[in-house]
Amino acid sequence: MATRLILFGPPGAGKGTQARRLVESLGIPQISTGDILRQAKAEGTPMGQKAAGYMNAGKLVPDEVVVGIVEERLEKDDAQGGWILDGFPRTLPQAEALDAMLGRRGEAIDRVLSLEVPDEPIVARLSGRRSCPECKAGYHVTFDPPAKEGICNECGATLIQRDDDRPEAIRERLKTFHDQTAPLEQYYENKGLLARVDGEGGIDEVTRRIQSALGG
Ligand code: AMP
Repeated sequence: MATRLILFGPPGAGKGTQARRLVESLGIPQISTGDILRQAKAEGTPMGQKAAGYMNAGKLVPDEVVVGIVEERLEKDDAQGGWILDGFPRTLPQAEALDAMLGRRGEAIDRVLSLEVPDEPIVARLSGRRSCPECKAGYHVTFDPPAKEGICNECGATLIQRDDDRPEAIRERLKTFHDQTAPLEQYYENKGLLARVDGEGGIDEVTRRIQSALGG
């Protein structure tokens, strides 16, 4: 049976890290609107150029842009057996657009996993975060360092820091989360889909909590 999951939570809650683990254990793709937008930005496509200003400022890219991205992505072959949405939806109109999209496809969300982490640890997590521009592996200078400083364990590429992991952008992203995204928790709770997972502690510990929330 196809599994359709949403990983919900503030920036730096561990959505990307945990989504990559679920990809391995469940064999379904991770769909990260942030990754798709960063790729478009790096390639300098018209969409990427438009999105860059919002992203660097820690603001949300307009709904119609991200809804279009997700709609297109859900049609790909590898998404037919399920998916893990990471970083989408982030606003009520996005959640409603997703429901409409899935309704047209005769599909439904199975579970929304909300990774709960307070603001203070988030600032430390994001400011030490590094990622591989090639294979997208994620690291943290203190909590999850690569074997060789600045180099990806998986593919040997030089690790980078995201433009929006600077202190001013981090504060703006947290504000955006509380103002525009956090209300979605109630939306999914009302639909009986929400599972709250404590996102503090080690990466393995959080993976175990997610597995038990999924009944595994
Ligand atoms: P993320 O990698 O999920 O933290 O996303 C990085 C940035 O991409 C966000 O701060 C937004 O500027 C943009 N972005 C990603 N997903 C969305 C979304 N669902 N809605 C609007 N903007 C998004």
